Amino acid sequence: MGLFNKESCIICNGKTNALTKAKASSGVVCSSCLSLCSPGFIRNIGNKTTTDIKEHIEYVKENQLLYNSFQATDTVGKLFFVDKVNQRFYIPVPAATLYNKIPIVYSFDNIVDYELVVDGESYTKGGASIGRALIGGAIFGGAGAIIGGSTGKRKQNEVIKKMYIKISLKHPYDSYTEIPLISTEVKKGAFIYNTMTDAANKILALLDSMVASEPVAIPSASAADELLKYKQLLDCGALTQEEFDTKKKELLNL
Ligand SMILES: [Zn+2]
Repeated sequence: MGLFNKESCIICNGKTNALTKAKASSGVVCSSCLSLCSPGFIRNIGNKTTTDIKEHIEYVKENQLLYNSFQATDTVGKLFFVDKVNQRFYIPVPAATLYNKIPIVYSFDNIVDYELVVDGESYTKGGASIGRALIGGAIFGGAGAIIGGSTGKRKQNEVIKKMYIKISLKHPYDSYTEIPLISTEVKKGAFIYNTMTDAANKILALLDSMVASEPVAIPSASAADELLKYKQLLDCGALTQEEFDTKKKELLNL
């Protein structure tokens, strides 16, 4: 491997272009192979092996099928697409994306939590385990309320530069995904600001409803097993009668 020899791609063995290749742990990957990977995967490609990348490319092919058959039940503009029947969602890939433009289709189960971030500050955070918490007293009501409800440090007529919703994920390839709302300086109260505030409200409400979805019912056989365990805990005094009754109701869907 002399200084002037171009390294070939570890996936396809093709030639690589110095400007568009990426460095993985076992060598370089050409731009056409990168175009088969998701953006979240490419962010972390530095520590991926040839096998990791090949597996990921297979995953992306399957994702393409999910995307092609996606039937949205709820949408917010062109920002957020949700299929409540199959419990899936995706966020369109920005047009400027260098590589794969097919968005990853996530399942509701992938969501850990989500937050609205305005100029680096988290304004509201939600998730299955925490419900929706409002940060800094921000009441997320009508247009303009995001900032108006904050700590009062901010002045009227201020501008904001960046607003997005970040969704943290438990997913093999993406630890998070983002819905970009504002990425250029806008005045509070301007049309784009109001439109995007409104969109943020709708997306957060949708996310709230997505994580609040009914959990899968426990099959009766395992419910009986569980109940037996709780009965033993009751008998040995680890649970009170009241705690046992509560569990029993839960397990038997009473
Ligand atoms: Zn290649």
